[in-house]
Order: sequence, then structure tokens, then C-alpha cells
Amino acid sequence: MSIAYWIIGAVVLLWLAGGIRRRRRGRNKTIRVIEENCTGCQRCVKRCSRRVLEAVKAETGTYVVVKNQDKCTACGDCIGKCKFNALEMVERI
Ligand code: SF4
Ligand code: SF4
Repeated sequence: MSIAYWIIGAVVLLWLAGGIRRRRRGRNKTIRVIEENCTGCQRCVKRCSRRVLEAVKAETGTYVVVKNQDKCTACGDCIGKCKFNALEMVERI
């Protein structure tokens, strides 16, 4: 029984440490769209649960913009979904 408590405690500690690391990264970094590479497929928009990215329709087609930069945690999930190398992590200014 006590081993189960140790395991649960370790999992909780790892989860908390991960949360602190994510918060720190989110304060320093954010996402940027490389417009010339964006095809407007919107895979990144669907992946971002924080609604940071938004698709914009223009005469030249659809592309994505960073709408709510303050909400970006720099998790990188959207980068993993982009097949066109159109997203990059940059330092916050
Ligand atoms: S996944 Fe990449 S190419 Fe597709 S809309 Fe997002 S940034 Fe553009
Ligand atoms: S890095 Fe994470 S929070 Fe920021 S736009 Fe991408 S998926 Fe959303």
C-alpha cells in the first residue's frame, strides 16, 4: 500500500514540475506564423486548445494569424501539426 502512495506522490510531483516548466516557457516564448509557408490548412488552429491561432480569409486564400498571443503557453503542439514548416517558436518581446 505504501508503494502506491510513493508512486502517486511521484506522479503528482512530476506533474507539478512540468506545469512550472510550461509556465516559465510560456512567459518567455510564443508562436509566430511564417506567412509565406502557410497554406491555410488550419491543422494548427484545431490543435490549439487555447484558441491562440485564427484562420483569416483573404482574396489570396486562407492563412493563419496569431490572434491571442497572451494565451500562448509555448507548448509547441501546433508546430507538431504543421506539415509546411510555417510555425516557429520565438522569444516574446
Ligand atoms: S498547420 Fe501550418 S500550414 Fe496549416 S494553417 Fe497552420 S501554420 Fe498554416
Ligand atoms: S504553442 Fe501551444 S498554446 Fe501556443 S499557439 Fe501553439 S498550440 Fe497554442
